[in-house]
Formats: sequence, C-alpha cells, structure tokens
Amino acid sequence: MSDHDSVLGQPARSDLMHADDRGCFGAYGGRHLPPQLEDAIAEVAEQYALAAADPAFLREYDDLLAQYVGRPSPLFFARSLTRHAGGAKIYLKREDLNHTGSHKINHCLGEGLLAKRMGKTRLLAETGAGQHGVALATAAALLGLECEIHMGAIDVAKQRPNVVRMEMLGATVVAVDEGGRSLKEAVDSAFAAYARDYRDTFFAIGSVVGPDPYPTIVRDFQAVVGREARAQILAQEGTLPDALVACVGGGSNALGLFTAFLGDDEVAMYGVEPGGRGAAVGEHAATMTHGRPGMLHGMTTYVLQDDSGQPAPVHSIASGLDYPGVGPQHSYLKDSGRVSYVSVDDRDCLDAFALSCRAEGIIPALESAHAVAYTVQLAGRYGPDAVVIANLSGRGDKDIDYVHEVSSRG
Ligand SMILES: *Cc1c(COP(=O)(O)O)cnc(C)c1O
Repeated sequence: MSDHDSVLGQPARSDLMHADDRGCFGAYGGRHLPPQLEDAIAEVAEQYALAAADPAFLREYDDLLAQYVGRPSPLFFARSLTRHAGGAKIYLKREDLNHTGSHKINHCLGEGLLAKRMGKTRLLAETGAGQHGVALATAAALLGLECEIHMGAIDVAKQRPNVVRMEMLGATVVAVDEGGRSLKEAVDSAFAAYARDYRDTFFAIGSVVGPDPYPTIVRDFQAVVGREARAQILAQEGTLPDALVACVGGGSNALGLFTAFLGDDEVAMYGVEPGGRGAAVGEHAATMTHGRPGMLHGMTTYVLQDDSGQPAPVHSIASGLDYPGVGPQHSYLKDSGRVSYVSVDDRDCLDAFALSCRAEGIIPALESAHAVAYTVQLAGRYGPDAVVIANLSGRGDKDIDYVHEVSSRG
C-alpha cells in the first residue's frame, strides 16, 4: 500500500492513479519550475507524503469534513430528470450542499491543514471568478491562517460580491493590473509573491493542476466525493452505476467523483468540457477536444494553444470552466481511454440550468449544469435498469443575475 492508497481507502487501478517518481502520469505532469521554487515545492511533496500516511492528520481532515462542511453530501435520486430523460435512473451527488456551496471547500481545508502542519502562517493563491478565493479564505479563517488572494483587476471589478466575501473573511485581495488583467496575470503575480516569501507561505492551488505534487494532493482531498458516492449507490441501488458524469475545468470535481471507481471497469466515465459558443479559437474552453499536449503552469498536459505555443484565449458561460489547460491525470486518462471527454455548449448548459431549477428545485452552478446537460442526453441512451451519477459540483446562487439577464435578452 502506498501513501495515496491509504488516503483513498478504496480499490483503484494503481496504473491509472499514481504519478511516477518524476511526478508524471504517463507523458503528462511533471514539475516544470523556476529554480527559485524547486526547494519550496520539494518541501510540499515531502511533507504531504508524511501527512497522507499520518492517521491523526487524516482524522482531523475527516472531522472537519463531517462537522464543518456537512459531509457526507447526499446522493439524490432525481425522479423528474429521470422521467424527462426517459432512460437510466439519474442520481445527483449534492456537492452544492457543502458549506460555501461547492466541492472546492474539500481541497481548501486539506491544503489549509497541510499548511498548518508545515508550520506555515499564510495561504496564497490566485483566483479567476473568485470561487477558489472564497473557499480558501474560509479555510484560512477557520484554521487561523492569513490569506492573500491575487485576482486580475478586471475580475475584481466583475466579481464584486466574491471580493467582498473574501475581505469579510479576513483575506487580502491583490488586484493585478498587468497585461490582460485576468486569470493568467493573477497566476504569474501569485507565483512571484510565492517566490519572494515561501518560508512562511503555502501556495494553495485550486484544482488538480500545476506542478507535481499538486495534482495528486488536490485529487486525494477530493476523492471523498467518489468514496461516498460508491458506498451510497451500493446501499441505495445495490449495484455500481453504469456511468459517471462530471464537468471539467481543471478537473478536480471530476477526479473527486471518478477516483474511487477507476478500478471498476464496468463503470463508464464522462468528463464534460465547455463547448462555449462554437469551435473557433476563443469561443470555447474544450481543452481535450481542441487542444494538444504542451506546457502550462508547471505541468505538461493538453493545452489550448496558438501556433507559437501560447495559451489560447478561452470562453465559457461558466467562469469556473474557463481554463486553457486541464489536470495532467485527465490527459493520461483520455489517452488510456478510461475516461471519455465530451463537450456541452452554452445554450445546452442554460437549458439544463432551467430544467434542474424547474424539475428538481435545484439551482445548479453553471459549471455543474454542463454535467446535468450531458447526463440527460446520456441517460436517454440507457434502459430503465441503468444508473447514471452526475456530480452537482456547486450551487448556482452566484449565477442567477447573469442567467436572468441572458434569459430576458432572449
Ligand atoms: C471551480 C468550479 C468547477 C471547476 O473546477 P474543477 O477543478 O474542474 O472541478 C466546477 N464546478 C464548480 C461549482 C466550481 O466552483
């Protein structure tokens, strides 16, 4: 048993699970770092390996998940969606019911606990729409850590409510005024701040992306989602599901659901990327469909890029999916054929958003609505004895003003 198995505690195909000693999943991943950060990241890797094998650390994490996040989250049988799809039974894994309203709190608490164990006093991260920033500021407040969030100046203006939330939770928000003043510049700025002061600081990445060991760390802290779902579906249906569906931005909620089932060859898995407004460059963020292997944010992975290898502009109606890369383990799972990657466009996402509201009384995050849209299509291809589980990664309160505006425009 390796350290990671002890975290996951479920059967998993180790050939699909483990980064090798270079931090690679097959040809993907690795640690492409500026020299001044090599020691800092090596320390994170060393300390995480110890933490993941320490029962006291895992117990503390599990206690917070139960008492603070409210886990386990329910696995809900969606009768109306099932009737609407006319095929397989549809179950929703309700990550929207977590404290702070999405799956992100799972890995933010894990990273915060790891930072504390390492003697760090400050959490540092970048954020795009502010969802990772809010979840991390929450973890920092709970654990008594300082928190500094770098955010593009345009995003600061656009995402005012999340900026206010972070500040109320005690975080410092740094507005980045360079270049395109968006996520990419925020990443560069946060990395520069980390390089200046990594002695007291833990860099808390917001998905299964970045240099090794972050794709492994974030996956391990999210794997609770699939561990619960596997036990719940066995209890509720007496059988494993036929398929799993999750949206993919960087890929953390998807790996969260998939990991405990990777060894169950009869369970099909679908990662849903944002098809946006169409297939032209800049109109979508469907990395697996339109990208090719390249380098981004310290890792080798599928990247949407222009001819000179620069990350391409991206669009999605869901800001949490608006990323030109994807976690390296996903790239490996794509090439291995274990997971299929598909896309859902903005229009079908909005239809699924409305359907989920009206049919089930659940306002989903626009990110999660991508998974709902594909799940309804997929369920229709199965018979009534089949079971499909969709990860409802977050709630849609953050999206209602935007959806109302585009719906009334027609
Ligand atoms: C951030 C976010 C996502 C996308 O991130 P992944 O790492 O791909 O999971 C999906 N859903 C919600 C609700 C989010 O906040």
